[in-house]
Amino acid sequence: MISTDGAVLPRTLAAALAVRADDPVRTVVAGGTDLMVGVNAGRLRPSSWLSLRRVPELQRIERHGSSLFVGACVTFARIERELVDTAPALAAAARTVGSVQIRNAATIGGNLSTASPAGDSLPVLACYHAEVEVASVRGTRIVPIGEFLVGPKRTDLGADELVVGVHLRRTTGEQAFAKVGPRAAMVIARCSLAARVDRTTGDAGVGIGAVAPCALAVPAAAEILASGGSVDDFVAAVVSAAAPIDDLRAPAAYRHHALAVLARRMHGWLQ
Ligand SMILES: Cc1cc2nc3c(=O)[nH]c(=O)nc-3n(C[C@H](O)[C@H](O)[C@H](O)COP(=O)(O)OP(=O)(O)OC[C@H]3O[C@@H](n4cnc5c(N)ncnc54)[C@H](O)[C@@H]3O)c2cc1C
Repeated sequence: MISTDGAVLPRTLAAALAVRADDPVRTVVAGGTDLMVGVNAGRLRPSSWLSLRRVPELQRIERHGSSLFVGACVTFARIERELVDTAPALAAAARTVGSVQIRNAATIGGNLSTASPAGDSLPVLACYHAEVEVASVRGTRIVPIGEFLVGPKRTDLGADELVVGVHLRRTTGEQAFAKVGPRAAMVIARCSLAARVDRTTGDAGVGIGAVAPCALAVPAAAEILASGGSVDDFVAAVVSAAAPIDDLRAPAAYRHHALAVLARRMHGWLQ
């Protein structure tokens, strides 16, 4: 374990979990792209850090049969490059995160732990029915994404726990991710939608982001996709799952409207 001024950089997951158990108020940092915004704005003044950047277990991407594991410290730049064939919708979402510089640092574990309703990986993870692996010195838990995200910027993570990674099933068939923002690049989503369907196996998933307190799976819309239901029914199912609020970035009515437009387009892309 390396120790510098106020920061520890463990070299194994076991060492990181031991530090977390010993000092749960130590600020956990991965890429720092969310945390440093708070530090630079003067909202955060961490006195000590637990950096996860040198923990090899958190950097793993593993494929076993139909399962895929993506470690918490895998950056969006790697997801964009390495998962384009295995998890195309996740790779598409990764491509829309910030700029190249942000994607080189920002991690999927940081996106999950920040749990912003607009986090771009989250509707995709909902559409894949992903499971989050969390660990502490007490052991490991596997938490369905819908139970891990408990509210805006709130997760099920305990004070002594770390996100280790996410487990996905490798899926076949068509899949896509899209988000709406005020520009074509470098945007925080006003709404986002991920969907996948394999009409041979009848397997489908739909996830929405930035239109509810947290990203959500929409099983009713997935069923319509799987059964070849109409575009109007699909749009209605997606929009009825949304519960957006008026905020600084967009009024609720705009988010509803934009989500309906995205749903209509996505239904066409997945045909
Ligand atoms: C200019 C800019 C543009 C951005 N654009 C986008 C965008 O388009 N889409 C998007 O979704 N996000 C965007 N973000 C937000 C940010 O980049 C992402 O949320 C990113 O995934 C955060 O990952 P990180 O590794 O940098 O997290 P960090 O900043 O290191 O950490 C974020 C939070 O997660 C906790 N944490 C990190 N890893 C773990 C772990 N393994 N276990 C437990 N807790 C952990 C930290 O303690 C902290 O509370 C942007 C940020 C900036 C500054």
